[in-house]
Amino acid sequence: MSRAHAPGRVNLIGEHTDYTGGFVLPMAVDMGVTCEATPRADRLVTAWSREMSGAPMAADLDNLAPGAVTGWAAYVLGTIWALGEAGVVVPPCDIRIESTLPAGAGLSSSAAVECAVALAVLDLAGVRMQARDIARIAKRAENDFVGAPTGSMDQVASMLAQPDALLFFDTGLDITRTVPFPLRANGLHLLVMDTHAHHQLVTDEYGERRRALEAATVALAVPSLRDVQDARSVESLTDDTLRRRARHVVTENARVQHVIELLTAGEVAAVGPVLSAGHASLRDDLEVSCDELDVAVDAAVNAGALGARMVGGGFGGSAIALVRATHVDVVRSAVAGAYRARNWREPDVYDVVPAPGARLLA
Ligand code: ADP
Ligand code: MG
Repeated sequence: MSRAHAPGRVNLIGEHTDYTGGFVLPMAVDMGVTCEATPRADRLVTAWSREMSGAPMAADLDNLAPGAVTGWAAYVLGTIWALGEAGVVVPPCDIRIESTLPAGAGLSSSAAVECAVALAVLDLAGVRMQARDIARIAKRAENDFVGAPTGSMDQVASMLAQPDALLFFDTGLDITRTVPFPLRANGLHLLVMDTHAHHQLVTDEYGERRRALEAATVALAVPSLRDVQDARSVESLTDDTLRRRARHVVTENARVQHVIELLTAGEVAAVGPVLSAGHASLRDDLEVSCDELDVAVDAAVNAGALGARMVGGGFGGSAIALVRATHVDVVRSAVAGAYRARNWREPDVYDVVPAPGARLLA
């Protein structure tokens, strides 16, 4: 039997930058998925989850292919498939998972499932592999088996994160670096506020952002927006929408670098205003926020949070707030109160700390 744990993640700063080869700065959280893999005598692989009702899902190991399984089990069996595609001889086994992560709250429960399964099954198979390669396999499961066209930040963060640290990930160069983030030692908390909002969009908003950013890259005659060093050069773009979209990515990459400089200088609390600036950019320039996110961010900041911003793709999902220990309760109740005043369901709030990446368990 092999057991592994993989954490969820939250991205401190660096939003909507990954698909332009930019910078992200996630950390693992102290909630995650634990996977247990036990060998079987036949040719089946089964998947069971404590959080999903019902009998285990079973699949024939020799006929596993995209489309064979849908729903939550696709994350588990897709990882088995992706391991096979990478040349791993996967032994028939029973997979059991249990999670302390809320699904769909923007903490990347999907990558935690994939990374925990990959690590446990590799151990059962007696195969050693670099964490970065395991992250690639987990991402392949999500992209090609589940069918979700996501970037690689979630899996990279879950596999490579270090405790009390952020993981700088340069998605263009595929380089990672650990940045110290001593949250508690500085009397700080990071709150993740799940707004429960999920706006179904009629138009293809994400496609529009991608196309605008590609057009801006062409108009600025740069290989990639990350190559724009001076944020003022985007002001030369004549199209207002293109200019604002590009300005978000260029200033967001600069904010990631600024946060790293602040943390390297030990100025952890000074990160707060950079988060708020990131929110303003996502709201006004990229235009991917929504009322629920803005209300949570504004209520948190007005109640004394050092800074706050929406996280994830936008149009719903979660926001984060950097808060002094002395202000945690007042920020939480201010956000809850702002939601109650609008007759909205109060956000679920998670107080997270930078946790270690995925690991085998005894
Ligand atoms: P996020 O990764 O932000 O939590 P996703 O939509 O990417 O949201 O992934 C959530 C999906 O991952 C769930 O709908 C489910 O299919 C799968 N999942 C998450 N946690 C579990 C779990 N404990 N057991 C089984 N499947 C899970
Ligand atoms: Mg996910």
